[in-house]
Amino acid sequence: MLEEYGVVACPRCQMARGVRLSQRSTTCARCGATFELRKRKILYRARDAREAGAAVAEINRRLMQR
Ligand SMILES: [Zn+2]
Repeated sequence: MLEEYGVVACPRCQMARGVRLSQRSTTCARCGATFELRKRKILYRARDAREAGAAVAEINRRLMQR
């Protein structure tokens, strides 16, 4: 199984974001923070963008309930 996509949380605002694991860094859509993926824990690993997107939605939904 190829796990090309992952979900990471922004270190500043904690919002989850779907990324390609081949990327070195990403920018948070919510607060604009740029962070390196290797410094963040991969919260979820997915085979495709759709699966990663569903995981992002689920994680962010839980985040908003806190
Ligand atoms: Zn953020």
